[in-house]
Amino acid sequence: MAHSKALLVLENFIAGKFVPCSSYIDSYNPSTGEVYCRVPDSGKEEVEAAVKAAKAAFPIWSSKSPLERSRVLNKLADLIEHDLEAFAQAESKDQGKTITFARTVDIPRAVYNFRFFASSILHHMTECTQMATVGCVHYTSRTPVGVAGLISPWNLPLYLLTWKIAPAIACGNTVVAKPSEMTSVTAWMMCKLLEKAGVPHGVVNVVFGMGAKAGEALVCHPTVPLISFTGSTLTAQRITEKSAPHCKRLSLELGGKNPAIVFDDADLSQCIPITLRSSFANQGEICLCTSRIFVQRGIYSEFLKKFVAEAKKWKVGNPLDPTVDVGALISKEHLEKVRSYVKKAQAEGAQVLCGEGVDSLALPPGNQKGYFMLPTVIAEVKDDSCCMQEEIFGPVTCVVAFDTEEEVIERANSVKYGLAATVWSSNVGRVHRVAQKLQAGLVWTNCWLIRDLNLPFGGMKASGIGREGGKDSYEFFTEVKTITIKH
Ligand code: ADP
Repeated sequence: MAHSKALLVLENFIAGKFVPCSSYIDSYNPSTGEVYCRVPDSGKEEVEAAVKAAKAAFPIWSSKSPLERSRVLNKLADLIEHDLEAFAQAESKDQGKTITFARTVDIPRAVYNFRFFASSILHHMTECTQMATVGCVHYTSRTPVGVAGLISPWNLPLYLLTWKIAPAIACGNTVVAKPSEMTSVTAWMMCKLLEKAGVPHGVVNVVFGMGAKAGEALVCHPTVPLISFTGSTLTAQRITEKSAPHCKRLSLELGGKNPAIVFDDADLSQCIPITLRSSFANQGEICLCTSRIFVQRGIYSEFLKKFVAEAKKWKVGNPLDPTVDVGALISKEHLEKVRSYVKKAQAEGAQVLCGEGVDSLALPPGNQKGYFMLPTVIAEVKDDSCCMQEEIFGPVTCVVAFDTEEEVIERANSVKYGLAATVWSSNVGRVHRVAQKLQAGLVWTNCWLIRDLNLPFGGMKASGIGREGGKDSYEFFTEVKTITIKH
């Protein structure tokens, strides 16, 4: 297609060098609908070169002490932080997220991922037991696995990519990363800083391109024993199949259909603003976003009235405007998919109380062709409706009433996913009881998205396999050996 303005052209980063590719994919600015960037359309050949570089770098990097690796990670964190504004601008333009979210969540967290694992790697201990009667000491040792394949999605591009790169290299592995073809720019910017941070050539390689081509080549590569993947459940099923002949180690962070449960003793002055955020932050494009809100019948009408009134105040528009709350969705196709859920709900007789199809959206002149949508609240929707069962991944949330604790636990658990849940109540006993019974890898009570990176992150059921976080990432990215000494 013809391009009116000069395009940003990305290159793969292999063995410490930027390398052009023979073919490229167009990448769109979601807030204008224009092509603004060209991304390498890598395949087997590029992945092969990257794996070769990572394999060659492994002996030296893996033999460095944790402290040496820690210094490099800290330096990289400092360099990204130094360029925080440039990274935030790029993330907002590439993904459609608001500049405020990129400035306050995405890029600071990318920086913190490196700082956290730079510190965490210094504090692990392995086990030791003794068998006095036999005269034996057993201990475990942990060593890096080799070349790690890292595949990340488009919703939190640098945030989720660094959540994988940081622990992988802190543990002494070398990596080949494949960011989402839709959001590759900040990964490419990070590559420009690696040399200055002291990351040796070949330790971090990034190949850009499509999942079915570049991603799958990585998944099928025999020299990559481990894949950390964040993305859709469908893709995870394919990755599992493709990697099975190689018996690869997999960590899969997948989708969610996360419930918020609001009991009648909840503090609504806290619950409503936080549940709005948990529903609509980052345009609802976070796997942890709330999309089913169960409200106890006694406060249902009050909650709904206030919630809808507040949702209507969220400003949708140019993501680079710091007063905007909701930016653009990632792509035209995704916007259409999200809208189709609202239409289906209407066809089933549900009530759309605000947003898509009921309120009008006025966009600034430069954003008329962008992929925007108003925060949408749906009520009177049945539990078996696709809006209550499937991951929509957009600014759409359903609100339904419930009567008893037992009933709501059962309804909240009646989906194929099990990633996150929030519980709102001032009754401490109830909060513990309900949290224990919910099928979710993460339960937030009277809050949302507060994370300590030491603790496990991941989902149950179709939301994933494995956990990542301080100790869990260390275990995933290292191989353990039990050694027995008879004395
Ligand atoms: P979404 O549906 O949210 O776009 P995907 O699961 O398709 O999520 O994408 C997440 C990441 O997985 C992206 O980097 C994408 O390119 C990659 N990917 C998609 N399909 C495959 C595949 N068959 N093998 C490996 N990676 C893939």
